[in-house]
Amino acid sequence: MRGRNKRIETFSPVETFTLGESFGKEAVPGTVYTLDGDLGCGKTLLTQGLAKGLGISGSVVSPTFTILQVYEKGRLPLYHFDVYRIADPDEMDEIGFDEYLYGNGVCVIEWSKLIDELIPDTAVRLTFERDLSKGADYRLIICT
Ligand code: ADP
Ligand code: MG
Repeated sequence: MRGRNKRIETFSPVETFTLGESFGKEAVPGTVYTLDGDLGCGKTLLTQGLAKGLGISGSVVSPTFTILQVYEKGRLPLYHFDVYRIADPDEMDEIGFDEYLYGNGVCVIEWSKLIDELIPDTAVRLTFERDLSKGADYRLIICT
């Protein structure tokens, strides 16, 4: 899997989008990506690239207020979660989280640490960090 156990540096929004696109191109059914890091670090932008890599056209918006956005028009379905507003991991049961996780699509989960106990061990985990000494547009993306 691309990126596994790697530290990837990006220096612009486009580079993060392109990294996401490469993930989207190689994703297989059941792939789960988790995205963690501060507000504005690029989680949604990477997801937009990933959607493009899956062949999804049109806009991919942040699902902060809806928890889940589903895109069915690509090479594989994309299930884009943003669990920032989840108060309790039990709330994920109510939306049938397991069926998406173990289904035939690709799951992307922003703020996954809030529901850490529900994330499968096989997930590709991406953590975003900034380093202002390297510029405002610098991001370190740690993949485990
Ligand atoms: P999040 O979903 O993590 O809250 P977004 O993807 O919505 O963040 O926003 C990231 C913001 O940071 C965008 O405005 C983007 O243009 C900006 N940005 C600047 N440099 C980068 C970079 N290297 N990677 C990703 N986004 C960047
Ligand atoms: Mg976001």
